[in-house]
Amino acid sequence: MKKQAPYRLYLPENELPRQWYNLRADMPRQPDPMINPATGKPATLEDLTPVFSTELVCQELDATTRYIDIPQDVREMYKLYRPSPLIRAYNLEKYLGTPAKIYYKFEGNNTSGSHKLNSAIPQAYYAKAQGITALTTETGAGQWGTALAEACAYYGLDLLVYMVKVSYQQKPYRKAVMKTFGAQVIPSPSDTTQAGRAILAENPDTTGSLGCAISEAVEKAVTSPGTRYVLGSVLNQVLLHQSVIGLEAYRALEVLDEYPDTVIGCAGGGSNLGGLIAPFMRDKLLGKNNTRFIAAEPATCPSLTRGKYAYDFCDTGKITPMARMYTLGSGFIPSPSHAGGLRFHGMAPILSKLYHDGCMEAVALTQARIFEAATLFARQETILPAPESAHAICAAIDEAIRCRESGQAKTILFGLSGTGYFDMTAYMEYQEGKLQDVPPTDAQLAAGFAALPQIPQNEGI
Ligand SMILES: *Cc1c(COP(=O)(O)O)cnc(C)c1O
Repeated sequence: MKKQAPYRLYLPENELPRQWYNLRADMPRQPDPMINPATGKPATLEDLTPVFSTELVCQELDATTRYIDIPQDVREMYKLYRPSPLIRAYNLEKYLGTPAKIYYKFEGNNTSGSHKLNSAIPQAYYAKAQGITALTTETGAGQWGTALAEACAYYGLDLLVYMVKVSYQQKPYRKAVMKTFGAQVIPSPSDTTQAGRAILAENPDTTGSLGCAISEAVEKAVTSPGTRYVLGSVLNQVLLHQSVIGLEAYRALEVLDEYPDTVIGCAGGGSNLGGLIAPFMRDKLLGKNNTRFIAAEPATCPSLTRGKYAYDFCDTGKITPMARMYTLGSGFIPSPSHAGGLRFHGMAPILSKLYHDGCMEAVALTQARIFEAATLFARQETILPAPESAHAICAAIDEAIRCRESGQAKTILFGLSGTGYFDMTAYMEYQEGKLQDVPPTDAQLAAGFAALPQIPQNEGI
């Protein structure tokens, strides 16, 4: 007989993964390469090294090395908060009356409050190792900026964060945390870059977007000496670093003699989901399981469920390389919603490809539903989830209810990507019944698609 799973399983420190797992090495059909808009050809090492540090470009372009060593210095910082716990949601299961077993991997046990630190650390580490002195980045809700500020403080790097203006105004505490760790924070769009000035000239009242903050951060990096840009999601390298989540979850379930029938995560740019599913998706691609994978995204920014699979820029200013991904168009600005981390117009090329090939499913959820799920979860499991993570919770609860209705005792694993202590304005609006969802209209989507790059690869899309 199987022994009963503990509420929380913490792997011992010596089981912290020594290598990241590169899912592309096991994908029989590869994501399409990034394209340099200047040449119309796949982006090369030389194209990308002015923007990103060299080792990270190597990881970005490496589709064949299956396992990549985690540097010892990175493991040392990981050990400050990893391995993260795998938790059995006994109370939630009981409340729902479901025969399903629900497990979640909790990434909120660090000051940044989310999984983002898993990639911030190696990105800061490789920059430092290359002799770079400063980094620039964008942040939406503030979690990525916070995580990177922590990592830069640890490795002694300067950091300039372009924070989407609406979040800058709504989340003063996030700003204060970043400053505590020594980062400089500028609301975006700003007049400190050409891209920002152009966006402001066109739309002076804009509250900003991730795509626009990315343009500013990239421009600042390439025009400042000893400076590189870093991105907290979407890229192959970020999914690689986040594989530490999936590898730990895989091992912890192995210890419990369990294997998930369904793996669920929230999807903004796709990094926590891509990291969580990596080893389980490997098994699926190798024909070893029949696990279902579900991406949960917001109805206001439905890149997978309503987007197009096309080449697009990662930023509003169209200065980044183009990636083939599910996208709503780089000019798309979602209506305000509280899941700031899920407001990116595109989806990681790796996940986009898996979704396109039918290896993964997606659902779009409204704010009313995800805050209901978040509240239920907090009361049963005692963790106050981030609104982003609440998308995964909501989809997991839906799946558990389907199990109850069909009498199937499935094993569900979902990613609890972070905590919501800086999102209490959102919880308050939910409690006061003030939350509104304004999903994009078909006409808005059509406008976004019409602005996709006119390149041969996009013909017929
Ligand atoms: C940023 C963020 C997300 C979304 O980003 P992905 O790259 O899609 O993982 C999800 N949850 C939390 C808590 C975040 O901070």
